[in-house]
Amino acid sequence: MEFPIVIGNWKMNLTPHESEIVAKKIVAGLPPQGVSAEVVLCPSFPSLEVVERVIAQSTISLGAQNFFWQESGSYTGEVSIKMLKEIGCGWSIIGHSERRIVLRENDDEINKKVKLALAYDIVPVICVGEKYEERQAGQKDFVIMKEVASALKGVDKFNRLVVAYEPVWVIGRGEAIDPEEAQSVATLIKYTLRDMYSHEVVDNKIKILYGGSVDDQNVSQFVDNELIQGVLVGGSSLKPETFLGIINKLTSKC
Ligand code: PEP
Repeated sequence: MEFPIVIGNWKMNLTPHESEIVAKKIVAGLPPQGVSAEVVLCPSFPSLEVVERVIAQSTISLGAQNFFWQESGSYTGEVSIKMLKEIGCGWSIIGHSERRIVLRENDDEINKKVKLALAYDIVPVICVGEKYEERQAGQKDFVIMKEVASALKGVDKFNRLVVAYEPVWVIGRGEAIDPEEAQSVATLIKYTLRDMYSHEVVDNKIKILYGGSVDDQNVSQFVDNELIQGVLVGGSSLKPETFLGIINKLTSKC
């Protein structure tokens, strides 16, 4: 059985000093030989290097929350994929709903970022999910299929990528969706991917995660290791005990 993936998205929380403390607590809470899960921490840009040092001797991987869609140049205030690669990022979240909504990131930019990440051998964690109004209007399936297809437009060769289903309206709400609904959306994502790639590619190279108010109490209901193979965790990843609890729950299932 493959290991489940647990990704912590710290968003715009924790200063570098605070990040160091939280990362140290997470490392200290895991057995030194590692766990039967792939754990990834995604701190903010200024905290990446300090977290990289803390996790260096552990099996935790480093991820970014975003980067710019051009490789380099005159883009004041932006961060390139090459910079992330050089400081040890192996993963990056792409197209998080907070970026799509607040920062107006569009499907075309997200697609360019996915291609860049793959070119730099960074695992893209592509976030898709419907807003509450879209759900109410019966557009959920359409939105998800469109976001998956446009993020992966023209993407034909890759070793590995992740699609995270995050219903926008439950992010940070403290209450997740019904696990059966998450499973049914994961099935929809899988069928959408099968329209684009062979069954072998979809089954072996793409993992589907759930994200949205996951904690140590509800995580086991979402991850079945077949359709949903891990979780993207926001708020609960800032609390070392809860984050470790999530990892424990998933690894005790393996
Ligand atoms: C997220 O923002 O990716 C997320 C899943 O947040 P939360 O766990 O806080 O709902």
